[in-house]
Amino acid sequence: YLIDDPKYSFLKDLGLDKKNDGVFNGKWEANGQVIQSYSPANGKIIAEVKTGSLADYETCAKAAQDAWHSWAEMPAPARGEIVRQIGDALREKLQPLGQLVSLEMGKILPEAIGEVVEYIHVCDLALGLSRTLPGTIFPSERPGHVLIEKWNPLGLIGIITAFNFPVAVFGWNSAIAMVCGDVSVWKPSDTTPLTAVAVTKIVESVLVKNNIPGAVAALCVGGKDIGQTLVRDHRMKLVSFTGSTAVGQEVGVEVQRRFGRHLLELGGNNAIIVNSDANVELLLNAALFACAGTAGQRCTTTRRLLIHEKLFTEVVSKLKKAYASVLPRIGDPLLSETLIGPLHTQAAVDAYKKTVAEAVKLGGTIEFGGKVIDREGFFVEPTIITGLPHDSPLVMAECFAPIVYCIKIPDLDTGIQYNNEVEQGLSSSLFTENLADVFKWIGPHGSDCGIVNVNIPTNGAEVGGAFGGEKATGGGRECGSDSWKSYMRRATVTVNYSGTIKLAQNIRFGD
Ligand code: NAD
Repeated sequence: YLIDDPKYSFLKDLGLDKKNDGVFNGKWEANGQVIQSYSPANGKIIAEVKTGSLADYETCAKAAQDAWHSWAEMPAPARGEIVRQIGDALREKLQPLGQLVSLEMGKILPEAIGEVVEYIHVCDLALGLSRTLPGTIFPSERPGHVLIEKWNPLGLIGIITAFNFPVAVFGWNSAIAMVCGDVSVWKPSDTTPLTAVAVTKIVESVLVKNNIPGAVAALCVGGKDIGQTLVRDHRMKLVSFTGSTAVGQEVGVEVQRRFGRHLLELGGNNAIIVNSDANVELLLNAALFACAGTAGQRCTTTRRLLIHEKLFTEVVSKLKKAYASVLPRIGDPLLSETLIGPLHTQAAVDAYKKTVAEAVKLGGTIEFGGKVIDREGFFVEPTIITGLPHDSPLVMAECFAPIVYCIKIPDLDTGIQYNNEVEQGLSSSLFTENLADVFKWIGPHGSDCGIVNVNIPTNGAEVGGAFGGEKATGGGRECGSDSWKSYMRRATVTVNYSGTIKLAQNIRFGD
């Protein structure tokens, strides 16, 4: 167990043990099966987590529901103060929590720390929101009447998260939902259970200090069975799901079946368009991180480079050089010299191998990479493929690995057509110096994605804007802007202070 190795003493700083309970309902108690959490960098066991049984899930949902009444009665600014303290508690644990994310998920330490910083930023955003949550007054057509739009908390919500952002995605949901007056049950990915336990311990410490029931932020580690039970649970007013499109579609249909609300953050198939006038140096800088960074395991990773034919040869050859320069820096994600860590699981390595083999079979050329790296852990070479048609089934699909397809385009219109022809609609970017093309790109005939960038990579969003995508990416929006509306219910209230009954539209009834 790596937890016994002094090299990983940060695990103890986070309150983790060799055996951990993965259920928190105000108390830590779990009765499900024991799972081992592995480091993808070396395949060794970090520590164990006991998952939740279905009965444990029930105690979480019930305790959270009970805790809701007092939580919803707290003024929003007082809830904001709790979230502010969570932000501060995260600041204190920034380094060890980042190290844990790096060890358990596999992303490099600066990105893992960045993920915790993202949660802290959302706490800051939520704190401001707690004092500015709006409600509108509209003029009434009737004398002595007023129309008020009143927002109330939804109540109990479920948060299901993916392995690749084991801290930030929970934070995006939790911080905003908390100031909105909701309580939650979190079902994290069962391959990042230690991170979920560590984050929940940090949140718990703040709740306990303030005499607030811990079940306001309940946790139930588990697999598909817990996820499915949560999704079908009528008490869950909102299910916020982050994960693959295939599972997200099932989740969406199940939640709709009971007329619950869902917020879906699903797969992406993101493109960068390289316009004929693109600044190539800027593009290469961005593309290296966007295509190969995080070993291709961001929902916003660039999977397609749509390159103007004039620049195609230059961009592909320079990108190959850039990839060659990072090849020696693939390795242990906790080391400062490392730029790219491992894939998360053996299954991901298998999917990578299958995709590369299929690309060759379909006539593609492996310009760079294409091989599994012969060392312990789940390491693969970042890979560049040319020669596949823009609508090849491989190009149209999301393979969650560092594989980018380079495709020639004759002009921007074709680039936009290719960008939009995939099922997913998460992130997109255009590299250009032409103002008219920028406005075409962001206009009605431009990119159909939820994230539409110019001269920056497709990945690496800030918390101020709404995050999410269209089409098979699910349509949900989280984080900034008016995403808080997903976590609240709206009531249109008409108050009559005129002393007489008057009907709208001047309707006269019985007089
Ligand atoms: P996944 O779909 O395999 O799992 C996501 C979560 O769903 C996990 O917690 C899993 O245990 C749970 N789950 C599995 N089956 C379920 C079911 N039937 N009902 C309810 N829950 C169930 O995804 P993953 O491999 O963990 O993550 C990678 C995927 O997530 C990629 O497709 C990526 O693009 C996507 N993703 C999207 C965003 C976004 O914001 N759009 C962010 C991160 C990841």
